[in-house]
Amino acid sequence: MQTAQLLVGLDVGGTKTAALLVNASGSVLGQATVPTRTATPDELLDSISQAIHLVLAQAQVTPPQIQRIGLGVPGQVDPATGIVHLAVNLNLQNYPLGPALSARFKAPTFLENDVRTAAIGALAHVRQREPVDSLAYVSIGTGLAAGVILNGRLHRGHNGLAGEIGHMIAESGGTLCNCGLHGCLETIVAGPAIVRQMAETEPETVVRHAGDVYQAAVLGNQAAQKIVQRVSQQLSRAIQWLVMTYDVEKIVLGGGVTQSGDAFLAPILQELACLRQQSTLAAALLPDEKVHLIPAGFNPGVWGAINLTKQTLSAPEKS
Ligand SMILES: [Zn+2]
Repeated sequence: MQTAQLLVGLDVGGTKTAALLVNASGSVLGQATVPTRTATPDELLDSISQAIHLVLAQAQVTPPQIQRIGLGVPGQVDPATGIVHLAVNLNLQNYPLGPALSARFKAPTFLENDVRTAAIGALAHVRQREPVDSLAYVSIGTGLAAGVILNGRLHRGHNGLAGEIGHMIAESGGTLCNCGLHGCLETIVAGPAIVRQMAETEPETVVRHAGDVYQAAVLGNQAAQKIVQRVSQQLSRAIQWLVMTYDVEKIVLGGGVTQSGDAFLAPILQELACLRQQSTLAAALLPDEKVHLIPAGFNPGVWGAINLTKQTLSAPEKS
């Protein structure tokens, strides 16, 4: 019988689950995306299992050949026990997702919050080019959060909330946030917030997602340009906060909103250039090279999940 040491990485989102299968040397053997079903924990497990079976089928291998499974979950999790304390989008509360998946596939499962998992994936991505030891990965999508890597390791913080910058207050008395506070950064720069601002300023222009607003801005729509400028200004501040707080080597930007590519990144870099002009400190700490955009086609979530299974993040090789 063929033996293999295969790793499965999963990025479990509220609407879809992405899976990646790699061998011991990191070659991709299968990748798939399926809709996430969240009606019950069993249905969720079924949809995750479906994603795993799809990548196994692509590689023509069977479940016993899985050595380890890693998964990123949108919510509060305990990596030590595999329990999901709260994942609103997955309809889970105090559910042992890690053990349940381990029981189905007879393989150890490693679980972490999705943004922190993606931060590990972002580290792997940046390390393909540079021996980086610290970074903050900022996910700008349905919500806003950062995952922080210090000394080559995930920095979780006392309550596992390090990097939750989406709920830093950016505008006193601003829009009410899901968390109960007003004017959180998330209410300005996350995808739904960008769409909402466009609907408030120019209701006649129909936009479905943040990408439409970025495209309208590029095409000269002034309302869209103003919103993009506001979002970029706030994100450049968030980058500055993260650099000043954690003194990381890189800030990596990813998530749905960043898929507008240059239309998304260029105005942020412009704002950083403004900061550099005003301050020698900013000039020293915020060069353009500090900011990376996750390229289209690279999913840091599934790669981070693969690396979760390796548990220890080794330090970069020094030459
Ligand atoms: Zn908030």
